[in-house]
Amino acid sequence: MELEFDVAICGAGPGGAALASILASRGIKTALLERQSDFSREFRGEGVMPSGYEALKNIGFDLENIDIPIQKNSAVNAYYHGKHLMDVELPFEDAFVRWVSQPALLEHIISTNQGNNNFNFFRGHRVHDVSYQNDRIRGLRVVNKETKFNIKAKVIIGFDGRTSILRRKLNFDTIDFKQIIDVVWFKVPYPHEFLNPGTAFVNVVPGGFMVCPACYDDALQIGWIINKGSYREVKELGEESWISEIQKVCPAKFSQHLEKYKGKITNKFVLDVSIERCLDWSKKGVLLLGDAAHTMSPVGAQGINIAVRDAIVAANHLVPIFSKDFSDSELDSTYKEIENERLPEVKKVQNFQKRPTTAFKKQNPIVMLVIKNLPTITKFNLVRKMILKQFKMMAYGVTKVDLKV
Ligand SMILES: Cc1cc2nc3c(=O)[nH]c(=O)nc-3n(C[C@H](O)[C@H](O)[C@H](O)COP(=O)(O)OP(=O)(O)OC[C@H]3O[C@@H](n4cnc5c(N)ncnc54)[C@H](O)[C@@H]3O)c2cc1C
Repeated sequence: MELEFDVAICGAGPGGAALASILASRGIKTALLERQSDFSREFRGEGVMPSGYEALKNIGFDLENIDIPIQKNSAVNAYYHGKHLMDVELPFEDAFVRWVSQPALLEHIISTNQGNNNFNFFRGHRVHDVSYQNDRIRGLRVVNKETKFNIKAKVIIGFDGRTSILRRKLNFDTIDFKQIIDVVWFKVPYPHEFLNPGTAFVNVVPGGFMVCPACYDDALQIGWIINKGSYREVKELGEESWISEIQKVCPAKFSQHLEKYKGKITNKFVLDVSIERCLDWSKKGVLLLGDAAHTMSPVGAQGINIAVRDAIVAANHLVPIFSKDFSDSELDSTYKEIENERLPEVKKVQNFQKRPTTAFKKQNPIVMLVIKNLPTITKFNLVRKMILKQFKMMAYGVTKVDLKV
């Protein structure tokens, strides 16, 4: 069996779902393929920065006005080895970091498009190969339980995340900015006795750090940094033991809170932290976007935002070419234009993401000295300006991204 579309998108994460939604609403016959039948089976980040919020709003999904679970984080309490350093209000009026249920957001995008014949969502359909015609990829081979078929399309996009099959099948060359950490994520009920509502807390601990945002399900998500590849040792310790390790370096009130939930933590997930980027984002008729083209680390909660912004820029370039017939070389040039427009932001953010994990993990003495003295040094205008500059970049993005089609 073969089905034919204008565009086929492999992967219905935030990037793929957003792109399919824009293209289909502009009259382009789009196939969106997702291997999972339940979005909650794919663990991904939930922190949406103002840049991601604006991008989603631009497409028609205003997180403040749709019925999905959200928690705004508007303040951060900072600790050093469990001792209180300072409480910080996020510096701009609209600079909330929203913790957003991704399965709910993705289901919302899919259901909003139901009834549009140009939006063809293939749930539970895994792309297992590509199909060629004259040394160029013209289709995706798809499997759903026992059924196998081919999806032919003029434009083929790999929005299939950090383990992208299209990246592997086509042997895209990548730069790998080697990371020395992994993150153990888990959730506990929100510690109301320790934190005001909508407050994240961070704690620099010996040999690492913890990042703990407030979540939409009245929970606190805890990100605990471990040495790269060391999860097997952590697992062997047993959950109670490693929670006890965390308790030793936590503020006393939070440690008491954790004590109550030993053996009852939820949403545990180990993230193999990586920062990678394809040297070229397109090859033989396929364009990679989002994590497939540039895997982001969790630093600064950037991956979702960058993926949705990729989708907007891709749509700005792809919608116009469908107003007439286009050749393979015109499509290749369009792919390159999309990459060239997105590369500066991705490069800048990845360059920023490379530094903090290594500095914290290695406990660089200068960085530690600066952190211990943050309450004093942030009294200086120049220091505040420098911090604000970095914060602005992570909150609002590097380049201007607006949906123009
Ligand atoms: C634990 C964790 C915490 C994170 N924290 C944050 C955060 O707080 N904020 C943030 O912005 N980013 C965060 N990130 C990163 C963020 O999740 C990603 O950068 C973002 O989801 C990338 O979006 P995407 O659309 O490119 O790909 P993904 O969201 O990875 O989506 C890819 C989709 O493709 C599907 N797929 C894969 N292979 C196939 C196939 N062969 N056939 C069909 N479908 C396929 C997958 O099932 C998936 O649904 C985190 C990531 C993880 C894992």
